[in-house]
Amino acid sequence: MEGDEFAFLLDNLKAVGNAMRVADRLQQEFATPFTVEGREIFLTASMGLTCCNMGYESGEHLLRDATTAMHQAKTSGRTGFVIFDKVMHEQAMARLKLEADLRQALERQEFRLQYQPIVALKSGHVAGVEALLRWEHPEYGLTRPDVFLEIATELGLMTKIGEWSFREACRQLTAWHAEFPQVRPLTVSVNVSLRHFADADVAALVNDTLVATGVDASSLKIEITESDMMQNPEAVTEVLKQIESLRIQTCLDDFGTGYSSLSYLHQLPITFLKIDQSFVRRLGADDDALAIVKIIIVLAHQLGRQVIAEGVETAEHLTILRSLGCEYGQGYFFAKPLPVAEVSSLLASGRRW
Ligand code: C2E
Ligand code: CA
Ligand code: CA
Repeated sequence: MEGDEFAFLLDNLKAVGNAMRVADRLQQEFATPFTVEGREIFLTASMGLTCCNMGYESGEHLLRDATTAMHQAKTSGRTGFVIFDKVMHEQAMARLKLEADLRQALERQEFRLQYQPIVALKSGHVAGVEALLRWEHPEYGLTRPDVFLEIATELGLMTKIGEWSFREACRQLTAWHAEFPQVRPLTVSVNVSLRHFADADVAALVNDTLVATGVDASSLKIEITESDMMQNPEAVTEVLKQIESLRIQTCLDDFGTGYSSLSYLHQLPITFLKIDQSFVRRLGADDDALAIVKIIIVLAHQLGRQVIAEGVETAEHLTILRSLGCEYGQGYFFAKPLPVAEVSSLLASGRRW
């Protein structure tokens, strides 16, 4: 079927058990090593089985389900086989539907951005917002990115979606700047995934969007996660340098979860470290979390970077972060990600924390 994928069609089977016996026999063959140029090579095989009593109308569907079961066997990590069943069928169908819907979502204008306030801890004012993607699914309603971001990436849709959200965030920021000239600085942070960094000329896109929307580069922050950065540090560094030359600030997201090395941290043109929520949320309850947050803030400051803490959920979190000299905070304690109108009311109110 593919370089490392094979299909066996067993006909005239009396029972599924017979197919399982064939699968067992194949597995046993793999237990003996293959000799290649005098060296012993060990291979394992993951297998998926399906049976024509599932009511198939075409060979493709049979292969599709066998493949689904095979992937299940593969992700379970053990060698062996998995038999396709009704539950898997339903999951596969749901996934196919989500894929089909997702392919049309951009065209149907179903994506939205919500904005979560970022508060300057010294003054307590809103200093910016982070744009967070939502999918207004026609049946399931407002859907969060954890449901669809991975699939969108697999389908190669992230570049287009990323471009849309970037343009939309810039457009909205221009509107807020015009409506609330007294709220300055007001920045917008946009999440950019590694895929987008790899696929497209991000710097050119960013520049074009700035020109088209009239947003000042200094009002823009680009967030990339620490783990994305570490997957391809050379390429990301290159793009970050281009972004820096446009005078746009960058932010290393989910910091503390991605194993970045100190040498990269030192070299990267990064303005902000964003401490991951998993540490911030445990502040006050857990001494280790306090120690980690403290060290990240000291490290960032020593390297001339600023710190944003995300996942601020209680007044106690806020008090601790303030006492540690953390510059910015973001989290449910201040506000959840909000639709445009609610951000506008918040900005109009001049609310402080
Ligand atoms: P992230 O960038 O780390 O965004 C923060 C997530 O934490 C958001 O989830 C937000 O709703 C949630 N959050 C904020 N404050 C709190 C809090 O106090 N407590 C708790 N428990 N959660 C809080 P969301 O919106 O579901 O986004 C999930 C992830 O999806 C984001 O994580 C980001 O990596 C990704 N994402 C969102 N929008 C975009 C986008 O436009 N492009 C790309 N490439 N990725 C995006
Ligand atoms: Ca983020
Ligand atoms: Ca984060």
